[in-house]
Amino acid sequence: MTLRSKIFFSQALFLLAPLVAALGAAGFLVTAQQHQSLEQQAVAASTAVRNSMAVAADAARTGALRSMVRNNLVIIQSLYQKSLTGSLSLDEARWLALETFTNRAANTYGTLFCIDSRGLILAHPDTSLVRTPLAPILLARLREASPEAVFQVAEEARLPALFAKSEFAPWGWTIVASIPSREWARILPVEQLVQDIATASGSESIHPFVLDASGTFRPDLPVPGLSSGEGKPLLDQLARQLVQQYSGSLVWDPVPDNPLGRRTLFFQPITELNLIAGVAVPTSVLGRPWTRLLQFCGLVLLPGTLAILGLGFFLAHRLGRPLQRLATGITGLEQSLDPLETRKGDSEEYARIIACCNQMMSALHEQRQKLVEEQETNSLIQQQLHQEIATRREAEQKLRAENATRKSAEQYLLLFKNIFDNAIEGIYITDPEGRILTINTSFSRITGFPAAELIGSHPRILGSTLQIQNSFAAMWNELPQTGSWSGEIWNRKKDGSIYPQWLSVSVIKNDRQEITHYFAFCHDITELKRKEKQISILAYSDALTKLPNRAALEHRLTKAIARAGRERRTLAVFFIDLDNFKNINDSLGHNIGDQVLIEVAERLSATIRSEDTLSRLGGDEFILLSESIDNENAVYNLASRILASLKQPILLPPNTIYVNASIGIALFPNDGQTSLDLIKNADMAMYKAKSEGKNKFVMFTQEMNEKLLNRIRVESAIRTGLKQREFAVYYQPKINIISELPTSFEALVRWQNNGTIVTPDQFIPIAEESGLIDEMSLYVLDEVCIFLAKMDEHQLQRLPISVNMAPRTFNQKNIVETIDTILRAHRIDHRFIEFEITETTAMKNVQHTLEIMRLFRERGIRFSIDDFGTGYSSLSYLSEMPVSTLKIDKRFINAGDANSRSIVSSITAMSKQMQLNVVAEGVETGEQLRWLRRLGCDEAQGYYFSRPMPAADVLVYLQRSNDQPSIVPVAPLLGSR
Ligand code: C2E
Ligand code: MG
Repeated sequence: MTLRSKIFFSQALFLLAPLVAALGAAGFLVTAQQHQSLEQQAVAASTAVRNSMAVAADAARTGALRSMVRNNLVIIQSLYQKSLTGSLSLDEARWLALETFTNRAANTYGTLFCIDSRGLILAHPDTSLVRTPLAPILLARLREASPEAVFQVAEEARLPALFAKSEFAPWGWTIVASIPSREWARILPVEQLVQDIATASGSESIHPFVLDASGTFRPDLPVPGLSSGEGKPLLDQLARQLVQQYSGSLVWDPVPDNPLGRRTLFFQPITELNLIAGVAVPTSVLGRPWTRLLQFCGLVLLPGTLAILGLGFFLAHRLGRPLQRLATGITGLEQSLDPLETRKGDSEEYARIIACCNQMMSALHEQRQKLVEEQETNSLIQQQLHQEIATRREAEQKLRAENATRKSAEQYLLLFKNIFDNAIEGIYITDPEGRILTINTSFSRITGFPAAELIGSHPRILGSTLQIQNSFAAMWNELPQTGSWSGEIWNRKKDGSIYPQWLSVSVIKNDRQEITHYFAFCHDITELKRKEKQISILAYSDALTKLPNRAALEHRLTKAIARAGRERRTLAVFFIDLDNFKNINDSLGHNIGDQVLIEVAERLSATIRSEDTLSRLGGDEFILLSESIDNENAVYNLASRILASLKQPILLPPNTIYVNASIGIALFPNDGQTSLDLIKNADMAMYKAKSEGKNKFVMFTQEMNEKLLNRIRVESAIRTGLKQREFAVYYQPKINIISELPTSFEALVRWQNNGTIVTPDQFIPIAEESGLIDEMSLYVLDEVCIFLAKMDEHQLQRLPISVNMAPRTFNQKNIVETIDTILRAHRIDHRFIEFEITETTAMKNVQHTLEIMRLFRERGIRFSIDDFGTGYSSLSYLSEMPVSTLKIDKRFINAGDANSRSIVSSITAMSKQMQLNVVAEGVETGEQLRWLRRLGCDEAQGYYFSRPMPAADVLVYLQRSNDQPSIVPVAPLLGSR
């Protein structure tokens, strides 16, 4: 067999196998279909039996009922006719009719009865019901129904029954026939019907049957192989099975050894007839196509298909083997050059294929050989090419880098040249021997030398003097060792001028650390020096007078002290302070004040010697440092000259100004060792000069220092005294000059220090200077309040008490509120307090004082001007102030000279004019009292009446005075002012 035919054959076989399988499947489907239709036929037959039975039963029942009512109606009608013809009387006709009903009814399946138009039963087989009313449900249905209509009524507790009616109008009767449901089956010709159905189905295999309520199959079901008597129990068992299952199908196998006797029963119930209708089909008929198919499949199709597959596989194997060998051979040929060989038994065709393959493979080998050789050559060439490209790239990169370096070097060179040419600083470069190689334009500009004149020469030639040249030489000698040098030097310009220069020189070395060049960098610092000088002048001199300021003085004084210490010489420090300079400033303005200061500075400068230093500390304070002091006389002379220089008035048209000065003098080494000590002590001496009447000079003494120390001690003791309440308040009465009775008291503070009573003049000034007076004033006020409360306790008539108020206390923050708080705390009315303020207090910061005074006055506190006449008052201001009393200072009362007397009388007269109360202080004698009384003074205060006394003594004093009635009551004293 050729290869072609083998392939054809095997392919044909492979196609045949699925064909056979497909045929088998088709056959199976057709057979299944057939089986299904047989079964459906059987089910349909059973349904037909059921339906036919139901329809036949319905027709039989309806027919029976209708014929019953119709026949009876005919009878009634004939009886009625007879009554009409007279053959029967009406009653006879009726009676006969009813009798017929009763009898006929008993012979039929159902019941026949008659009712009248009211529903009363006229005739009924059950005679007990005659003359009873028909059940209302039935009556209603009867009335609704049309004649001869058949309808079903299920009476309560009874089985349903079918009814039909017919009406006989002449008598108003209704004839009713009914068949109860249990009778329905009886009226059916069941067997006949089943027979008819079996015939109608036309299939021998299908046997219709009906199973009635008694368990009897109609017609009888034959049991194959058994007589009807033997089969009876099996049929009864089957009947029970059917009744139990009620509907569906079941397989009945009455004789297990005989499969052909097996039946499949399809059945359904006819409920209303109490029957089960169905068909019996031999099971073998239903199962036959399956069996045949299975047999066919088992015997023919399966072995056939398997045989075809086996044959196909064998042929495929036979066909494939040489081809596989060929494929393996060809694969092997790729590795070896041995040709493929044929075997014995190989077909000619196969041998030809092998030969062709061998040829092809050898050609392929040759081709491959060539290709491999070519590839090797190519890769060699490629490698060489790669190498060449890499070398070229490297070279290119190097070139690029070189170019970039060169370019950047060129740019840097250009940049450096620009810097070199355009630098503000002068630059020059020398060779290792210091010969100038090049200079920039700035260097030419600074020195004035053109480059041509300097190149080749040594920078030393710029040195102005030999000394400068020498320092230049020293620097050039030093440079190789240090590597760099910078500093200030003085050089000569081409025009011969000398100028300061800041020079920085650096050494430039090569790789072998040999000096190749020097690089110098310089700039002219003339301007810088000038500014420095200016700054130093500003920092150390007074802007107004151009005299050295305090810093410069301290600097010079420190130096002078050091020098004088070494040379054992004396120094004198003069602290000069202009008297009442503030008045000039306040009254003539600061411009005039400044000009006065300039003039004073000039006059003082003209007085002193050139080696002395006159400086201005600020304001109107000057300090003169004199280093040319041989003896004390020289000091006095200089101080006198200074005072004399100021004697002449300063003319600042239109003003002519007189200026005095107070001078304090301290000497080194006796009065101080440091500049600060000397200035401080001279200052102290100056204060002494001021306190001694101004316009004079005072030499510092150790006593002054002790005074200062004492002041510090007292200040600290006052502080402690206030804390420990060491201060007591004494009270001195003010007496009505007519009645000579006390009108009020003045509170005067005393310090009980270590058992001794210290009077105010010893601590009040220190308390004022240190600011402790504020606390002290409030302390006194507090004590006064306590004392006023005590007056109440002793049931004494309260008298107002005046408290001395220091000038500065009025400037205290919230002074009004503070005093309010104190008075409120002691429940003291403001009207019992009076403040005594000195003229100076009143006139200091007038507006503020006025405001505070008004606030106090509004509250009820009165004011007295104390020590009136000693100070400096403006009467116009005084008239604006809410002052109620003027106290004439005791010095005018005690002096006794005509001048003082006239002052007292003037003050009294003026006070009267201004409606002010006048109190004369320091009344010591009766004569003074009488004089004052003549002048019209209101009150007197003085030792003549009483010295200031402690609170306890005052209480006794008051009790004594209380015995006499007070002439001057308190209220009038609280006058409007
Ligand atoms: P001042 O306010 O002028 O008080 C009157 C001074 O004259 C009192 O001196 C008083 O003792 C004294 N004096 C009274 N009558 C006579 C007299 O007939 N002959 C003489 N020679 N003197 C008489 P004192 O108590 O030493 O007070 C001196 C000054 O101290 C007071 O002068 C007053 O300015 C101040 N002072 C006293 N106590 C206080 C105080 O509590 N506060 C404040 N801020 N100053 C007070
Ligand atoms: Mg006073």
